[in-house]
Amino acid sequence: MRASLICGNWKMHKDPAETTSFFGTFRALVEHSRCEIVICPPFLDVENAVDAARGTKIQIGAQDLYWASEGSFTGEVSGEMIKASGCTHVIVGHSERRRDFGDTDETVLRKTVAALDAGLTPIVCVGERDEKNVAAVLTEQFRGGIAGLSNERFAGIVIGYEPVWAIGAGKTATPEEAAGAHRLIRGLAGARFGAQAADSLRILYGGSVKAANAKALRAEPEIDGFLVGGASLDPVSFAALANL
Ligand code: PEP
Repeated sequence: MRASLICGNWKMHKDPAETTSFFGTFRALVEHSRCEIVICPPFLDVENAVDAARGTKIQIGAQDLYWASEGSFTGEVSGEMIKASGCTHVIVGHSERRRDFGDTDETVLRKTVAALDAGLTPIVCVGERDEKNVAAVLTEQFRGGIAGLSNERFAGIVIGYEPVWAIGAGKTATPEEAAGAHRLIRGLAGARFGAQAADSLRILYGGSVKAANAKALRAEPEIDGFLVGGASLDPVSFAALANL
């Protein structure tokens, strides 16, 4: 049985004071949640988020990392730095990083390895831009990136399946479409890493998840949780998803 996980990706929203205020409401609302909860704020909010989540089951993650440990890489942050700041997770290869900041399957793999080596759990994002090419794109992204991990490293990752056409669009994959894509990813994982590793892999669905559509998606046994953008910014709406 795979434990459910919900991850909030705040993208470039909220400053440190707003972060503290979010947790002031959110903490109590998820006290009895049975789900693993991760919130990924902007880097500058991590310190406040880690402080505010101390003593709770809420974990904090970053939204990206660079693969080198340190050096002359202006503007970048390493996995070791993220780990030292109190984070447990990091999102890797989000479609916005792939679209706007040049992430490729190859750099996503390097970042995934760096995150694991720093002791972080990478949430590695994959997903098609166009509703028609699901199998081809997922296969290419898997083979060009995740398949390059060792078996041992593969056991440490979570995959986020995010159809790009559904992100921030108010348009969601149907539960059947999402489950079909998750099965495809699990099949690719099984062929490369073995049935047991594939069975243990957690795959999150992301793309306009909100209270109104989450229940039906979550009812699919293939969907192990959610990666949530917009609905994670409000403590009440994110807690409703964490408490499903
Ligand atoms: C995301 O950016 O990862 C995401 C899923 O966003 P939204 O929930 O707003 O579609």
